[in-house]
Amino acid sequence: MFEQITLIGIGLIGSSISLAAQKKGLARTIVGHTKSKESTKLALELGLADKMAPTTEEAVKGADLVILCTPVGAFEAIAKQIGPHLKPNSTITDVGSVKGYVIEKVAKYIPDDVHFIPSHPLAGTELSGPASGFAELFENRWCLMTPLDETDPAKISELGDFWQALGSKVEIMDPDHHDTVLAVTSHVPHLIAYTMVGTADHLHRIRNSEVIQYSAAGFRDFTRIAASDPTMWRDVFLTNRESTLDILGRFTEELFALQRLIRTGNGQELFDYFQRTRSIRQGIIEAGQDTASPDFGRAKNTKN
Ligand code: NAP
Repeated sequence: MFEQITLIGIGLIGSSISLAAQKKGLARTIVGHTKSKESTKLALELGLADKMAPTTEEAVKGADLVILCTPVGAFEAIAKQIGPHLKPNSTITDVGSVKGYVIEKVAKYIPDDVHFIPSHPLAGTELSGPASGFAELFENRWCLMTPLDETDPAKISELGDFWQALGSKVEIMDPDHHDTVLAVTSHVPHLIAYTMVGTADHLHRIRNSEVIQYSAAGFRDFTRIAASDPTMWRDVFLTNRESTLDILGRFTEELFALQRLIRTGNGQELFDYFQRTRSIRQGIIEAGQDTASPDFGRAKNTKN
């Protein structure tokens, strides 16, 4: 599909794109760039790129498709560096978990003759770095694209075809709506997991060794999510602040309502509440976004 794809950042998502693109034969050449010497060396050893460029400017030279795969907080500086070096009529996209902020910070540096089409593949694991990627990561997962109004429809369609070729199902969405949806489905759940694990850590009535030894399924699922990359998630909360705080406010209200039901011993309402939430889980399974197996399909290493 492309003569040259350039990946800026080659951690979990970048390496998975490389492996899937290689498997499906979607690029003649893959060029990478990453921050550290260790990841650069590892990316070459793992065959994630034909060439690892020492600078972002050099990496994007001649690329038909550039994909930003670093934490969101690094996008603006990178866009500023690469803007003047992007090939005319090429496409630049990103995989950032937040879209409104990314458009605000990146679009201004992209020349008029380059097509900037933001994307977000809803696929990931709690692991990070070049060795954590796998070619099947995007299979049967959604990829949300949030193009700007003036973008050439043919280029949107070409990028959609690329995500589909990687295995994704593609949907076009308004960026602000994307940020609200993801605050509900991903960002706030991560924050709750971080908080629950932090609560156990701060609770001095039980020892940490007991938390680890007797961790039940519920807590273990929280710890898996709370092991996610600290840099990535710091950036997500700082850049999707408004939607996160909105959903967090609603979550707090629900929590207080449940607290009251427990205090007042209102078993019927608690039961009805849990019955409704159980049907949401059933809907996710029926939509093919998870399996009904007790390990939540973790053997396949998929989440989000
Ligand atoms: P990751 O595994 O931690 O990889 C991040 C990569 O970016 C690393 O190669 C890192 O380099 C590189 N990097 C960081 N700052 C850089 C800079 N200033 N210049 C060049 N390279 C830089 O992260 P990830 O999970 O792949 O996430 C990447 C993006 O995907 C994030 O924007 C995230 O929001 C989005 N996303 C993540 C998931 C998920 O579940 N993980 C799902 C969907 C979307 P070094 O290793 O050299 O330090």
